[in-house]
Amino acid sequence: ATPTSIMVGTGRAAQLGVLFRQGDALQSLQGVTTVALDKTGTLTKGTPELTDLVLMNDMTEERLLPLIGAVEARSEHPIAQAILRRAEAAGPVPREVSDFQSHTGYGVSALVAGRRVTLGADRLMTREGIDMGNAQRISADLAKAGKTPLFAAIDGRLAAVIAVADPIKPGTPEAIARLHDLNLEVAMITGDNRGTAEAIAAQLGIDRVVAEVLPDGKVAAIDDLRKGDNRIAYVGDGINDAPALAQADVGLAIGTGTDVAIEAADVVLMSGDLRGVVNAIDVSQRSMANIR
Ligand code: ADP
Ligand code: MG
Repeated sequence: ATPTSIMVGTGRAAQLGVLFRQGDALQSLQGVTTVALDKTGTLTKGTPELTDLVLMNDMTEERLLPLIGAVEARSEHPIAQAILRRAEAAGPVPREVSDFQSHTGYGVSALVAGRRVTLGADRLMTREGIDMGNAQRISADLAKAGKTPLFAAIDGRLAAVIAVADPIKPGTPEAIARLHDLNLEVAMITGDNRGTAEAIAAQLGIDRVVAEVLPDGKVAAIDDLRKGDNRIAYVGDGINDAPALAQADVGLAIGTGTDVAIEAADVVLMSGDLRGVVNAIDVSQRSMANIR
């Protein structure tokens, strides 16, 4: 590419709210074959709401909500905010929490008023040896509806299946349709439940799903997608997306996301709208076509 075509291209992209932090990203972007997207905060708004609370083993809402609210008050995860909001709406949430642990990619646990509270994905329950009864069946139905199922246990006994749902951003369906129009493969990489991820992918027409990825597994997921002659653009917003943004052929960060993600990216999308990804690819293809 000539310096002029790169200057013109990056200028045109900037007008569309797409910042190329590196000139050569304009060139590498036109060669991508696959656009891999983080789910939470990238395809979706990243602000889940609690939608379902299915009590088990004689648990009551009055007993459960203060306990799980107290633990989630200590967590930074968007899921935690959803659960805490619901607990606070129901009544006071105790502040006395000890032995709080955040099990990255699994969930959280702590002692609240002498009770051991364990809250998170099914793999956390399995790891703690908690008997799931018919909870897996309930959670599979919730996941089919695109909701994220979580499990709460009190003193080692399953107390509830909880679901949270994170709305899809309004620009996402059109962005995916336009990526397909450009003959690009669209993939999703997420730490979320497999059933949930597959339901959302089916709804959006996403071609490939890599789910239940632990935070340090996203780089390996990128390498996997790159098999053959694939060239990968990765789009993400979170701290745990930074290594994948650096590993991809082109990393695109959501400008409303974390600073860590922006620092690791080649391209920054000023708005959270995924149509910015299509604009970025479009500009890169046009500017490279000009100089051929
Ligand atoms: P993602 O950012 O894709 O949600 P994470 O690795 O942050 O991936 O979380 C993976 C899973 O771990 C979540 O879907 C959830 O099941 C569980 N989890 C993590 N943090 C919490 C929390 N504070 N409360 C309940 N569950 C949690
Ligand atoms: Mg995210």
